[in-house]
Amino acid sequence: MDVGALNKVGPKIKSILNNNNIYTTDDLINYFPFRYDDMTRSDIDSLNQDDRIVIDGYVESIPYLVRLRGKLDKMTFRFNTGTKILNVVIFNRGFLRNNIKINTPLTLIGKYDLKHSTIICSDIKFSKINDLPKYIPIYHSFNGLSSKQIHTLIKEIDSFNTIEYIPGYLKEKYKLSDKYESIKEVHNPTDLSTLKSATNYLKYEELFLFMLKMNSLKKNKVNQIGISRNVDYDKVLEFINDLPFELTPDQIKSVEDIYNDLMSSKKMNRLLQGDVGSGKTIVSVISIYINYLSGYQSALMAPTEILARQHYESISKIFNKYNIKVCLLTGKLKVKEKKEIYKKIENKEVDLIIGTHALFSTDVKYNNLGLVITDEQHRFGVNQRASLKNKGITPDILYMSATPIPRTYALTIYGDMDISTIKTKPSGRKDIITTIKTSNDIKDVLSSMLVELKANHQVYVIAPLIEESEKTDLENIYELESKMNKAFSKYYNVGVMHGKMEAKEKEEVMTKFLNNEIQILISTTVIEVGVDVPNATMMIIFDSYRFGLSAIHQLRGRVGRNDLQSYCILMSDKPTKRLDILTSTNDGFKISEEDFRLRGSGDLFGFRQSGDMSFKVADIKRDYHILLRAKEDSEEFLNEYIDNPLYKHIRDLVYQNSNLD
Ligand code: ADP
Ligand code: MG
Repeated sequence: MDVGALNKVGPKIKSILNNNNIYTTDDLINYFPFRYDDMTRSDIDSLNQDDRIVIDGYVESIPYLVRLRGKLDKMTFRFNTGTKILNVVIFNRGFLRNNIKINTPLTLIGKYDLKHSTIICSDIKFSKINDLPKYIPIYHSFNGLSSKQIHTLIKEIDSFNTIEYIPGYLKEKYKLSDKYESIKEVHNPTDLSTLKSATNYLKYEELFLFMLKMNSLKKNKVNQIGISRNVDYDKVLEFINDLPFELTPDQIKSVEDIYNDLMSSKKMNRLLQGDVGSGKTIVSVISIYINYLSGYQSALMAPTEILARQHYESISKIFNKYNIKVCLLTGKLKVKEKKEIYKKIENKEVDLIIGTHALFSTDVKYNNLGLVITDEQHRFGVNQRASLKNKGITPDILYMSATPIPRTYALTIYGDMDISTIKTKPSGRKDIITTIKTSNDIKDVLSSMLVELKANHQVYVIAPLIEESEKTDLENIYELESKMNKAFSKYYNVGVMHGKMEAKEKEEVMTKFLNNEIQILISTTVIEVGVDVPNATMMIIFDSYRFGLSAIHQLRGRVGRNDLQSYCILMSDKPTKRLDILTSTNDGFKISEEDFRLRGSGDLFGFRQSGDMSFKVADIKRDYHILLRAKEDSEEFLNEYIDNPLYKHIRDLVYQNSNLD
């Protein structure tokens, strides 16, 4: 059924859903929440400053509303919880003012400001807690459609189709419930244990299929014939010697690995992993050069427009003097521009095409494509690889990833790949000095910023992102902006960037930062991947307790990108034992290992955290034990059950995706 058939879906919502690849009600029901809000009533007396609070009670005073800049507003009132009278602050709900009268029963969800006996409210419900569901699913919102709206739409779906990809014998082995029931449960949880078994079904199915595809890829790999090239290594050395810096030993080793792959007739399927700033890009550039010398086209795919553009600019500069033609292809180009580029690609007027996933569009006809490189490969799924094969192309493939994964895990996940690792950073790099501060230290933080700014360096300020209320997020960002402006605007320019901005606006801000027209960039995590502004030497991360260790490590990799001393300040008003490892080491592999340990052991509950790998529901760190089981089960399945007619649908799915090699 088309999503448009739902009562609450008009043309506008339909187009938002379609833009996010949701066309049918089946697509929509398969859009899962990424976590749940637990609606258990908080025990106020045991809460600390800034803890999450869920509380019900009655309105004590008529709300007071003020309009802020833009379309923002702020409402305040007093609230009686039965044992305490608290102040309530809520942003951008001015439209609710007339519904909030004295004695109205409400449930409030938000942050508890103990010092000021205030609740900073992120959500408000017009009933008592006992009348509310115990777990509220939280979805990643779309531009223009909040989590709550998405949930409302999903609740309207009363039947849907599912195909179970877990064979019956495994379902029985793990006592998994039915897929249909599981999907219903994750959208409208009844109780914790039912919800857990529902998420287990979905995670296990995802990981089982993933491992099936991976293992069948590995089986097919034996007879993969690729391109064999003949390039003199001296030519490669000449190119290397011409670079403005000397390669590190790990970079050289990686280049050699890739050179050997490219020379051999075996198809390359290699993962180049290395911490942020370890210098993967130049290794890819050399690979492209080798491929160019042997007469083939190359494609380099980045996960975002910003990154693609940045690669385009820096790589064009290097290749300019070799007369290697580079073009940029992203989804945001005008149709006419795209057509021109398609023509150039087809006529082999370009040697290297850099872009986003637009590189895989059916309109692109490569001419002798020999090498495909994907940057930040953890952003792409297994299936994406299939789309190349569907074009009838079998180029060599190099994946680059800055999410350092300990080798044992990497082998499980990328069992079918060879791995090159860059462990040491370019020499001369100083370790980033990381410290933890609370909001009481803000004066110190501002004066550290000033020191950097006075030295003509630039600063990132990262604001946390709270998915359930976009508006509160923006409020956070704009509040930071006015703080920063107050402190610095006399001499320095402050810029703001967040995910809800148009790509073009983001690019403008980024370009200004790159050109040092902006000295302080306030941003959500949209800058996370790959952005390279070597003159930035300080990063302040607010509410850093919200982020995973690896995520912070990735973020702080935006500084320390030249030989200047760089700093990262982690702001957190919560206990931060977990963050200590970040102050003691800059080794991404160690941090990742710790992340695995912490997440693997904690009985954290929910679906994947955004950013890690390309799974929809599983989180390979937290669900690693499920992955291991899925790995064994998938091997057994491939050996013993794959040809069983009962499982034809599983077989079809696996082969449809693995014929890519
Ligand atoms: P990442 O691995 O995160 O993609 P980059 O390739 O962006 O890292 O490299 C970070 C910076 O280090 C770039 O500005 C790059 O030009 C520089 N760089 C790379 N290799 C070296 C080296 N061997 N010596 C000095 N600088 C280098
Ligand atoms: Mg990179």
